[in-house]
Amino acid sequence: MKKHFLFLLVFAVLVAACKKDEGFYNEFNDGQEWTDNQAGNGNEPQTNENNEDGSLTLYEVTGDAIAKIKDYEVPQSLLTYQQDYAKHQEIWDFVTRLLPLEERDKIGQFEVFHGGGEVLGYVTPVNENDLSKWRFGLAIDAAEQLDGIDFKNLFTYVAIHEYGHVLTLNDGQVMAGSEAGCNNYFPGEGCSRSNSYINRMFELGWKDIYREFDENNPEPFYEKYKDRFVTDYAATNPAEDIAEVFAFFITQENKPDASNIANQKIRLLYEFPELVDLRNKIRSTGSTVALRAGSWRENPLYGKFKICGRKGCLH
Ligand SMILES: [Zn+2]
Repeated sequence: MKKHFLFLLVFAVLVAACKKDEGFYNEFNDGQEWTDNQAGNGNEPQTNENNEDGSLTLYEVTGDAIAKIKDYEVPQSLLTYQQDYAKHQEIWDFVTRLLPLEERDKIGQFEVFHGGGEVLGYVTPVNENDLSKWRFGLAIDAAEQLDGIDFKNLFTYVAIHEYGHVLTLNDGQVMAGSEAGCNNYFPGEGCSRSNSYINRMFELGWKDIYREFDENNPEPFYEKYKDRFVTDYAATNPAEDIAEVFAFFITQENKPDASNIANQKIRLLYEFPELVDLRNKIRSTGSTVALRAGSWRENPLYGKFKICGRKGCLH
């Protein structure tokens, strides 16, 4: 159960900076361990947590405001990041500018963590078996260009991707519970509703080939069905796929043609009026002018993406 419970290690980027301090990097380069430690069950101790996962500070979210719930116990090397509360607030302010308030009602907590140059963001339900409130985690070491919203910026892309998880796995989309009796796609958190975004996408691009999918080894699957995925990371599993598709849906300037299934997945989201509305809202905020000027593909980090999932990095 636990292994399906989180959507972590959204993107891994080989950040040159992390290589400058091998000692530090080695402390945090075990994605699997990080993931396991994050497999919260809602009953985590309030102090003295093992902090190999890089967790820094947890906040409660109320509207546009955040209030500190706790600081995690951190190694000396992370203290300055933890105590940089101004930066934490800057990151949250960035989220509030990116995502309209009325679209954030499922975000109950905000966590700032240090991703060790690998992990950029994650989400998880605040409480197990309750998909109505989510913890939204962003990596302080990946946070950059927080003063504006620029779709060419990787961190912006990551925040949209993470929001895509909340959007597609919340209680309105997925009914918490076990797989028994579920006739739709089962992402792990529960049974997706028939007309949910993730189930519709599953039927469009996964159902007929799902027997071939091995979550522990998605790379051959991706190589075989490349034209079905907007990125290699999207082939990690359907939940990552829909988050990637959502990020493309938001950040790409134009609706793509229907020439392949990857594009058809993006076009699928255009069939939902509330998503088109959301897209327009995100793209029309005053600070998003740069969004229209180009594509996130132009980000110099793009070529350095690699797939890192709950089983570690694939290449
Ligand atoms: Zn993800």
